[in-house]
Amino acid sequence: MSSTLFISDLHLSDNTPEIEDALYAFLLRERRMARLFILGDFFEYWIGDDDDTPLNRRVIKQLRAASDRGTELFLVRGNRDLALGSVFANQIGATLLGDTTVISLDGKPTLVLHGDTLCTDDIEYQKMRTILHDPAWQAEMLQRPLEERREFARGLRNASQEKADKDPANIIDVNAEAVAQAFLDNGVEQMIHGHTHRPQTHRTDRGTRIVLGDWSASKGWCVRSENGQCTLESFS
Ligand code: MN
Repeated sequence: MSSTLFISDLHLSDNTPEIEDALYAFLLRERRMARLFILGDFFEYWIGDDDDTPLNRRVIKQLRAASDRGTELFLVRGNRDLALGSVFANQIGATLLGDTTVISLDGKPTLVLHGDTLCTDDIEYQKMRTILHDPAWQAEMLQRPLEERREFARGLRNASQEKADKDPANIIDVNAEAVAQAFLDNGVEQMIHGHTHRPQTHRTDRGTRIVLGDWSASKGWCVRSENGQCTLESFS
């Protein structure tokens, strides 16, 4: 029996010791999983692989242990941790994936992604995303001192918090046409993503879309694919 698990949106930071503990407990409990996909916003922010903090060191050690035990790790960047790079991936023994990847789950082609690209109604965010994902802009940013990058990340987080307070809740959910197009473009009838913090399994005539939940101090989420079944699970 080989299982593939998916998690996202842990938003790990110095302020989330309970979520960090929950992650380590999860890795231990699921130590026999064959594959683990981390679908973005694993960290609350990531300013570069050269940011050597105690938190980052602890997380690297635990993920490395999981891959040393034989779990294949795959990493997708979220909007919070889009600067995750190959140095970090190598440290934990993971494969860094692009924005969208089609994988096979017991023979079923499945699209895995963070999910922010499906939220096309959020025009302001998509404009910002284009800038932040420009390779030249990224390269220039990564040259700046850590303290300056930390300050920039703080500014982005504050802006996104203000926006979340102001905008109606539905603006950051996925756009139905973008979802239908993603099923079509990738030739799949199943997709798994996070980002929206709206954990649910949506079944439509185009296919099944499973949305991961964000972790809190009291609850974690994963999708488990095992024996041809793909299920959304929560745990305390
Ligand atoms: Mn996100």
